[in-house]
Order: sequence, then C-alpha cells, then structure tokens
Amino acid sequence: MNRPSSPVRVRFAPSPTGYLHVGGARTALFDWLFARKRNGTFILRIEDTDVERSSEDMTRGILEAMTWLGLHWDEGPYYQSKRLDFYRETAQRLVKEGYAYQDEGAIRFRVPEGKVTYKDAVFGEITVESDTIENFVLLRSDSNPTYHLSVVVDDIDMRISHVIRGADHISNTPKQILLYRALGASLPVFAHLPLILGPDKTRLSKRHGATSVMAYQEQGIVPEALRNFLALLGWAPGTDQELFNDEELNHAFSLQGISKANAVFNQDKLAWFNAQYLSRLEHEKLVRYLKPEFMKAGLWRDSLEKEESAWFKSLIDLLRPRAKVLQDFPRQSRLFLDPNIEYDPAAVEKFLKDPKIKENLQGLASRLESLPEFTLQSTEAAVRGFADELGIKAGALINASRVALTGQSVAPGIFDVMTLMGREKTVARLRI
Ligand code: GLU
Repeated sequence: MNRPSSPVRVRFAPSPTGYLHVGGARTALFDWLFARKRNGTFILRIEDTDVERSSEDMTRGILEAMTWLGLHWDEGPYYQSKRLDFYRETAQRLVKEGYAYQDEGAIRFRVPEGKVTYKDAVFGEITVESDTIENFVLLRSDSNPTYHLSVVVDDIDMRISHVIRGADHISNTPKQILLYRALGASLPVFAHLPLILGPDKTRLSKRHGATSVMAYQEQGIVPEALRNFLALLGWAPGTDQELFNDEELNHAFSLQGISKANAVFNQDKLAWFNAQYLSRLEHEKLVRYLKPEFMKAGLWRDSLEKEESAWFKSLIDLLRPRAKVLQDFPRQSRLFLDPNIEYDPAAVEKFLKDPKIKENLQGLASRLESLPEFTLQSTEAAVRGFADELGIKAGALINASRVALTGQSVAPGIFDVMTLMGREKTVARLRI
C-alpha cells in the first residue's frame, strides 16, 4: 500500500482513438482536481500503442479539449509509442523470472493460484478468484504490448500514487494487481469512477447527442459551465451547493464524495449551468469567448473593445439574463450592431398593421426627439405620458415600438433597448 507521505501523482491516460468525450473529460477533471487538492502532480499519458486505431490528430484534439477545459497537466504528455522497448524488456524479464511464458510468439502472464483482493477507494473491497482470470497476453506476437502490460509498467515507472479512472476498468484491475506483484511494486490506490449513463439509463454514447467536448464548445457552452457540470457527474459535495468556482471546487472535492451509483447525463442541467455562467462570468472573460462568435456573425468591430467598450458592456449586460449559449449574444445584438433590421412578418402583422398605430409611432418619435435627455426614466415617462394623451394603453404603444425598433415581438426591456440604441436610431426606426 501507498505510504501516506509519498507524493500524490495521478495520471490521465487517454487512448487517442477518438475525441475527448464526456466520460474521458470527467475522468481527467477528477484526476486534475485530486492532484490540485493534494498538492500533487497531474500527468498526461497518451496510450497510443494501438497504432492502427490511434492518430496524431486525435491526440491533438484531446490536448486541445483539455486545454479548453482548463485541465492543465504538470507533466507529459508521455507517449507510450515511444516507450515500446521498455515494455518489451519488462515482458522478457517476467519470462526470465518465471512469471510469464512464451506462447506461439506471444508472451502470456502466468496467473498464480489464490485470489486477488483490493480496496477500491470508491467501490470498497473487491475480491476476484484467480481461477476466473485466464493467462493473459502481455506482449503480442507482433511484439506490441497489451494495455495491461503498458499501463502497469508506466504507472510503476511514473510513480503513480492514485489510479483514478472509469469503472469500466474495474474488471481489468485484478490482472493489473497481479502484474504489480510480479514486478515487486507496491500498489497505488485505485479509485474507479461510476459510469455515466444517458437519460434512458443506457451507457452514454453518440445516440444521446453530442458527447465530444469540442462539440459543446461549438454549441456555445463555456468551459466553466461544462467543468462544473462534469464535476457533479458522480461526485457530490455533501451539501446542496451546485455552482462551484475553481477555488470552491478544489476545496470541496474529495474521493469520499465520489458515488458508486451510475451518474446520469442531463442535457437540461448542462444548459442550466451554462445560463448561470453566462449571467455571471467576469466581463473580460465573457468578451474573450464572445469575440469569435461576433466575428462569425459578421458583427465584430474593434471599437467594441475601445471607444465603444462602455456601451458594449451595457449591451452584454442587457443580454446576459436571457442568454443560453454564446451565440445568443450576437444573435440578439444584431439589432444594435447591424444598420439593417429584419422584421418578423408575424410580429409586424400582430402589432404594426393598424395605420393608426403607425401614426402614433410618428408622434412618439417627435416626443423622443425633443426630450432634454434620453435616459431610461425619460423615455419611459415619454412613452407612458404619450399613451395617456392618446387615450390608449401604454402596452399597445410599447408592443408596436418593440417591433419597430427590433423587428421582433420578443426583446429585452423596451426602454433599455431605446437607451442602448440611442436617440437618433430610435427616432429613425419609429418613423417606420
Ligand atoms: N487508456 C485507457 C483508456 O483510454 C485508460 C487506462 C487507464 O486509465 O488505466 O480507457
């Protein structure tokens, strides 16, 4: 067993045979959190011994996704493909020492009699009778190592203190423990993370929608939200707190809080976290995420970060409460940033059809034009006062103004819209 004083070293060991998906990202996050929590080292190891199925593009994608999620590794990435000799030598050594044997060009581990017992930090004591384990292959006849050999050799060599990985590896653990014993190494702590299921309670897969981390980025999810969401997939703080900033998460996280029960991936919950983060992320950070989206929408201009920065900040703040994804910001900013507005025909039909209402908007435009100052209060007073004079409901004037100004029947508060739009544009658009 690991001595308590030995340094904490954990690793995330993806096989680059696909994108970084939700399950892998959750594993990486828990490893990273545990390392942060215990002042340890987080190691990234790319398990690319399956040359046929691994690719450099996938490796690059995994590194990119981890970086986007803010899961910075302290050591590595190490590549197993560069360490093949090391695995081969170890297999030979095991043969020489009688723990393994040659079999039709391959090398197999000789499973000793008895049983394997270990205490999983999450699942508790697990015992497997050795006679249920076959003499498994360590080195294939093409002299490539199997996963069991390379993973144990590396975990020993890299002095991994805690193996934190998905529960799909529980059944591999007894074989790996036998290898540790044969190699004379002490065992790390094993902590297996519960499976992640889709809403239909089957294992999370593409059928359930996007599962790759970068697909969430494309959907306009911010990394802070995904990270917070992932943290609660199989871990609970023991309180009803749900929103955690980095510091709080580091503080609250522990292996004890990890559940044995399968976690269920709930897309609505992720959407909720995203809305929460969009409403509270620090302005500069949000603008960093938003800039590429405004560019894609053709709405970016550098002055938004310079002369117009105060105005842009008010615009962003106005949109925050209703934003669900990053793209909502450019979408709802178009009416302020694009000189041409598109009118929703249904909204026009509903609120602007009556010739009388158009006349009223003309009158309102003149009122607003002559206001001594153009503020939230003064525009509101003008609109309500004018409606009174006309003997119509303020609501009717407001609905019509909303469509005239924004082209839509749903928009943020009309007086916010007017003040952000400015007097000139407001007056011009009311004279529809
Ligand atoms: N490379 C393995 C995988 O992608 C993980 C190995 C491990 O964590 O032990 O599933």
